[in-house]
Amino acid sequence: MKRIMLPLFLLLCGQTLPPDTATSRREAETATAIAGADLTAPLFLCRADSWQTVRAAMAHSDEWLEPVKAFDNLYFVGNAFVGVWVLKTSAGLILFDATETEAQARDHLAPGLRALGLDPASIHTVVVTHGHFDHFGGAAWLQRTYHAHIALSAADWTMIESLASDAPERHQAELPRRDIVITDGQDLVLGDTVVKLYLTPGHTPGTVSAIVPARTGGRTVPLSLLGSVAFPAALDPTPHAGGLRAYDQSVQRFAQISQAAGAQGFINTHVFADGTRQRLDAVRAGAANNPFLIGAEATARYYAVLHHCLLAAQARATGG
Ligand SMILES: [Zn+2]
Repeated sequence: MKRIMLPLFLLLCGQTLPPDTATSRREAETATAIAGADLTAPLFLCRADSWQTVRAAMAHSDEWLEPVKAFDNLYFVGNAFVGVWVLKTSAGLILFDATETEAQARDHLAPGLRALGLDPASIHTVVVTHGHFDHFGGAAWLQRTYHAHIALSAADWTMIESLASDAPERHQAELPRRDIVITDGQDLVLGDTVVKLYLTPGHTPGTVSAIVPARTGGRTVPLSLLGSVAFPAALDPTPHAGGLRAYDQSVQRFAQISQAAGAQGFINTHVFADGTRQRLDAVRAGAANNPFLIGAEATARYYAVLHHCLLAAQARATGG
């Protein structure tokens, strides 16, 4: 997996680190102040070398976490780098991301679902947040084995398909067959459950984010799932990234969407990036209050932290 991922990461992160500027330092300080004591996890994104943190986490993709039921209808199966959020509905399962490889889907995801009392054969739709291997690598196997519907944005379908044809040496994962094309503001309806999907370009040209209706104690609490973490190097769009400017616009817009939806917390499939890992650990340890329910104010602050880190990255990229 690391062998497969490396070229993509080199492609995305560039070769040299842009130097800090007065503006980037000021924006990083602002982000740190907003983060307070409770939202420090994403602050690595404010650093010029934030990709080092991603690479370090990637080295733990063989460290599998015990599968967790985080809400009455929401579960997590994954490793210390990346994983899958699983939403149970009255008509089957919706997955967010698909693990990194066929072997992971077969040997960890499917057994993890069974350990949680969920039937992998009931996987109905897999929302792939974006077209990188660590998010869609297991999708073809899920499509083939369980007839799961695979959903990506049009831009990211095109990206994975063109990478397969333009640079086959970089493309060692089997591609899923093009299936559902996600559009901005789309309702994904399955049985008794509605997930709202949005296009949030930046990390890739067509990254998808979601408002996920978690349930606890008989009530529904919306959670905000941003479909990406690492910042692209370039300001403007490239064939493989939406660029820093688009990322920042997406974060600000999705923050507003999350607030309007009444989001009470956030989750990410990259557990290392936003404190999700620590929250999963707390759920597993039997925390009295669900650690994912941090409230609307803290959710807004999380996106403000990302916004200011993106301003820092843009300042570095422009030397401003
Ligand atoms: Zn990615």
